[in-house]
Amino acid sequence: MGERFVVVGAGTMGLGIAYVAAGAGYGVDLVEVDVARAESAAVTLDGLWDKAVRRGKLTPGEAAESRTRVVVRTDLAAVADGPDVVVEAVPERADLKRTVLAAAEALRPALLASNTSSIPIAELATGLARPERFVGLHFFNPVWAMALIEVVVGPATTEETTGAAVALAGRLGKDPIVVRDLPGFATSRLGVTLGLEAIRMVADGVASPADIDKAMVLGYRHPVGPLELTDLVGLDVRLDIARTLQRAYGDRFAPPPLLESMVEQGRLGKKSGRGFYHWEGGVRR
Ligand code: NAD
Repeated sequence: MGERFVVVGAGTMGLGIAYVAAGAGYGVDLVEVDVARAESAAVTLDGLWDKAVRRGKLTPGEAAESRTRVVVRTDLAAVADGPDVVVEAVPERADLKRTVLAAAEALRPALLASNTSSIPIAELATGLARPERFVGLHFFNPVWAMALIEVVVGPATTEETTGAAVALAGRLGKDPIVVRDLPGFATSRLGVTLGLEAIRMVADGVASPADIDKAMVLGYRHPVGPLELTDLVGLDVRLDIARTLQRAYGDRFAPPPLLESMVEQGRLGKKSGRGFYHWEGGVRR
């Protein structure tokens, strides 16, 4: 049957992880509970493969082969037992992730992973029967373009599991770092700090979002400014991460009221067409 990779959640990250796993030769089950999103997932993936062919990154034959490897489903229970890998990429809420991980563990995967950006692996592992096989695999957005994967080692994660996660990262064409299981790991703790401060600066009227971003791009050589990055990540996702980090480290990670109100208004960034910028057809206006 070949090697099998299960991705739970077909949002920004789940889609990208499924795309990369299919490209690495895995048969992929992409599981999404929201029926409308499950339907659009297949269309979005087709768009990614078409783009890769247009840009000369894949031959039409390679793209067609990857396409046949992905099956989109709406029910995890429909996935066959014994996959090589399961990665959950559902929203950044510990209770939801724990429920999904328990259901995923019942499939008896060789490696079970969470794409959490900020929640300790130890907190997600409570309730797992085999926490030694569980690890954080923190991918970056867009998954096909970003080289880094943070491998987050929980207190019960064995060396064998860590080694398997590092090897998997390599197979997916990524460059891993291994990090200790502290909230926010190595990346979100720093990246979210910058994003939250930039949002406070918008609220204070320091400069326009475009000029704050320009300051960091031209003044600090960041490839993208913190507000555009927040639009790309999703304001709702960043809000959830900030709340997790606030619980762990205190009010230095308190979400700015502007972020909360934008999320309430449905201004989630690129995925909703509006955030700090306007987005049309996936392009910033
Ligand atoms: P998202 O909101 O775009 O997607 C989450 C998807 O999970 C949604 O489509 C939702 O319908 C689905 N879902 C919810 N419950 C489910 C269930 N029980 N079974 C199957 N599907 C379910 O979120 P995202 O941006 O892809 O983030 C997912 C995870 O990845 C979060 O933990 C986030 O912190 C992390 N992450 C996000 C980014 C980013 O840039 N967006 C980067 C790295 C890590």
